[in-house]
Amino acid sequence: MILIDGKKVAEEIKQNIKIQISELKEENNKLPGLVTIIVGDNPASQVYVNMKSKTCIELGMNSKVEQLDGNISEEVLLTIIDKYNKDENFHGILVQLPLPKHIDEDKVIEKIIPEKDVDGFHPINVGNLVIGKDTLFPCTPYGILKLLEKYHIETKGRHVVVVGRSNIVGKPVANLLLQKKDNANAIVTVCHSATSDISKYTKQADILIAAMGKPKFITENMVKENAVVVDVGTNRVDDPTAKKGYRIVGDVDFDNVSKKVSHITPVPGGVGPMTIAMLMYNTLKAYQRKNNL
Ligand code: NAP
Repeated sequence: MILIDGKKVAEEIKQNIKIQISELKEENNKLPGLVTIIVGDNPASQVYVNMKSKTCIELGMNSKVEQLDGNISEEVLLTIIDKYNKDENFHGILVQLPLPKHIDEDKVIEKIIPEKDVDGFHPINVGNLVIGKDTLFPCTPYGILKLLEKYHIETKGRHVVVVGRSNIVGKPVANLLLQKKDNANAIVTVCHSATSDISKYTKQADILIAAMGKPKFITENMVKENAVVVDVGTNRVDDPTAKKGYRIVGDVDFDNVSKKVSHITPVPGGVGPMTIAMLMYNTLKAYQRKNNL
């Protein structure tokens, strides 16, 4: 069994970005910049935003965190986004989700101009992904494709089963893998909560992508011998023996499934680190597109 080391691959991608940015610096170019907008004080969101900002700085990009009050009106938030749409110092705009209930997430996503939508959630970017055009792809799905590519896992003509159909993971990863392109070209099945007898499908998977948010849902009797398993799940489970009182587990029962498969991503250290790496990748890509590089 080969453990897919997302931490290592993410590090390689980030180092490559760092080199490209240092070259821009040497040539006295304006540098890529990412603004992260956070509304309210959700502790998990604060951790994610700090990680993103820290990574930007490590790679030599400009980073700004716009911390907004949880009671801010939707209208004011949209005006702030528009300000950054026009600000040439920032090539990427990321609004940390989830937002407070009084704000319509769709309106916020649609307010960010597609060229700066480094999360790849804008309907124009989603549409371009579906029709096979190059665009800013959502970070987690794109990270999964990069992991498969780095480990030379053939996708062409192979059966990929995705469990989960969210707009953030399931749908985009399914659509990316469906494209008639290198490192894609797969036969794709998508399962969700209305799928009865999920194991009927998962057992057929050459590559199984679990993105449902259900701890250890995928057990060894649900996977084919020598399959490739990508575990996107990031679930907190109580663990009184852990320092924080909880630990993070995936959607896959790693200990048992790993004995049966050819490749598997661990949680943590698999897909997770790729998400931030691909956010940096997208910010650089947005910058390059803006400057016709
Ligand atoms: P989500 O929006 O809650 O979507 C979950 C999907 O799984 C839905 O499509 C749901 O079906 C399906 N599902 C739920 N229970 C199911 C069941 N028992 N059988 C079959 N399908 C089921 O979640 P998400 O945002 O896609 O995230 C999924 C997981 O990935 C979470 O643990 C999340 O924390 C993690 N995640 C990790 C990263 C990372 O960077 N590593 C990034 C994003 C998300 P319906 O559509 O029918 O409701």
